[in-house]
Amino acid sequence: MPHDESILGLNDYKIKDICRNGRKIVIHARYTGHVSCPHCRSTRLRKKDKFIRELRHETWGRRHCYIHLESLKLCCLGCGKYFNQRFPGIQPRRRSTEAFRHEVFKSHFDGICRKTLATNKCIGAATVERWFHDFMKRRESEMSSEPCPEELGLDEHFFSKKKGFATTFCDLKNHKVYDVTLGRSEASLEAYLKRLRGKDNVRVVCIDLSTTYRSITRKHFPYAKIVADRFHVIRLVNHHFLATWRTLDPIASKNRGLLSLMRRHEENMRPDQRERLGLYLKEHPEMEIIYEFKQRLCRLLLKKMCTVKKSRILIRQLLKYINELKSCGFAQLEKLGRTLGSWDQEIAAMWRFTKNNGITEGFHNKMEVISRRAFGFRNFENYRLRVRVMCS
Ligand SMILES: [Zn+2]
Repeated sequence: MPHDESILGLNDYKIKDICRNGRKIVIHARYTGHVSCPHCRSTRLRKKDKFIRELRHETWGRRHCYIHLESLKLCCLGCGKYFNQRFPGIQPRRRSTEAFRHEVFKSHFDGICRKTLATNKCIGAATVERWFHDFMKRRESEMSSEPCPEELGLDEHFFSKKKGFATTFCDLKNHKVYDVTLGRSEASLEAYLKRLRGKDNVRVVCIDLSTTYRSITRKHFPYAKIVADRFHVIRLVNHHFLATWRTLDPIASKNRGLLSLMRRHEENMRPDQRERLGLYLKEHPEMEIIYEFKQRLCRLLLKKMCTVKKSRILIRQLLKYINELKSCGFAQLEKLGRTLGSWDQEIAAMWRFTKNNGITEGFHNKMEVISRRAFGFRNFENYRLRVRVMCS
């Protein structure tokens, strides 16, 4: 008996015969387990008819495997209902075992395309898609009851030309996507956020410098601290700094080598590169002052894991820098000063917190792969289902 179990991968079945017909293997089997009425669980049953159920089973190497299973039509003496015998590992009315359906799901999940899989297994392409969808739904229903995560990353990403952008809700603590929803404006997210459960759980929300997401967070996540994303803050500083450089020295700012050195962090420069930049800056003293200031500002912004006491010192320094920027006389830098000024609380929170939206951006890469593999999605719900299951 244990041999039968290891051959079939199913418990309580007895193999009567195995025959081979070309690429096809047929196993004649019988169920030896306990049978009861599916309606009232009674075991007082009367046999009414006998028939053979033909089922597709897990592939043996390169050969397709079928089970011819002896089945009974039964009448329950308890409740008087008629029914066909039920089997563990096989769902009623299906013409394949759960093991085979799972095999197809797993292959498609691992990246074998629908058409190739359908040809290899001799089934329809629509069947592959339908089974895949069934298993995805099953997995999603297991996770749909989870409340909002404690640390949330919010970011937008492009979905399709027709439907526009979507917003990602990322669980930064457990490194997974909590949900995705269509829209990135306050009005389009309102309905979704209203019915979101466990919003009071959220302690930290990490966002890029988007005012929409800030106002959404303030409104819907009352106990959450907003943290600015470090990458976006540094990028903003670099953007305004380079724009100022372009107005001061339009010719040199077109030199790609110098441009690359200007936007680089100090620690990523080789000694010869540092020397080259030093020579340029010595010829342009005005630029040197601005460059030194930018470096000081970036060093300040890159601090992390600070204590409350240290953060207080740092914020005083940041406010000083912001005031300097506001009164420096360069339009671009004044604009930067105003933006940093309106985000000072969120930037200060950044020093206390180590995580950033890099995790969310990473998932955006993965989502793009999911979308590309399916040659784009028309139905957002299908996309959401895949993202939720595959990015968790
Ligand atoms: Zn019954």
